[in-house]
Amino acid sequence: MALRKLVAGNWKMNGSLASLAELDAIADVGSGAVDIAICPPATLIAPAVARQPGLAIGAQDCHWNPSGAHTGCLSVAMLAEAGARLVIVGHSERRTDNHETDAEVKAKAEAAIAGGLTAIVCVGETEAERDAGREVAVVTGQLRGSVPESATGETLVVAYEPVWAIGTGRTPTVADVADMHAAIRQCLGQLLGDEGANVRILYGGSVKPANAAELLHVPDVDGALVGGASLKAADFVPIVAAAQ
Ligand code: PEP
Repeated sequence: MALRKLVAGNWKMNGSLASLAELDAIADVGSGAVDIAICPPATLIAPAVARQPGLAIGAQDCHWNPSGAHTGCLSVAMLAEAGARLVIVGHSERRTDNHETDAEVKAKAEAAIAGGLTAIVCVGETEAERDAGREVAVVTGQLRGSVPESATGETLVVAYEPVWAIGTGRTPTVADVADMHAAIRQCLGQLLGDEGANVRILYGGSVKPANAAELLHVPDVDGALVGGASLKAADFVPIVAAAQ
């Protein structure tokens, strides 16, 4: 049975209060056959929810501890109080820039789920790893290290984002995406049993209106995680439409 698709936008460190006007057109196409979420910078979560209460707003990271001496970090409870319904964890930019390990990503996902948020766990190989033919081993290794055993289709989303495709305009072939998503589905079955079939697997990396339909209709692609093309409704809305 096909899973309901999710198209999630990751604004990264972009946007301002003025950018929230983009949410109006995005909310207008909501409540169709596709779930939509936008993950703005943390400072914009509460104003985004206030502007469009019907739209799922998410965070881009969380700490695994509920409180404490972690300067600059945000707990799941803080994000939930601001109105976040989901949180991205383990994005490759955080794995690289902040040296986040699989164990930390798993702890963040566990905290997110325990706090009532859906965790979007990101995985993906570098170009060198793909060139070496290690992409499936890398990605399934990240999944084994990052996915909480208690996760379900309600609480977990996996985003496959080849690092070399993020923000570069390059994408894997449809056949490569299909192969990787099949491998991820198989791995989720090993990790979560029957529940693995219910976990949505998003593709992310240079998704734009021109390639969205092709990528979003690959078997086991249950949606997209969109970076640059989520900043403007004029780009994001056609991607949502392509997922229908
Ligand atoms: C991302 O970083 O999650 C992403 C998919 O970025 P882009 O769409 O810009 O490649």
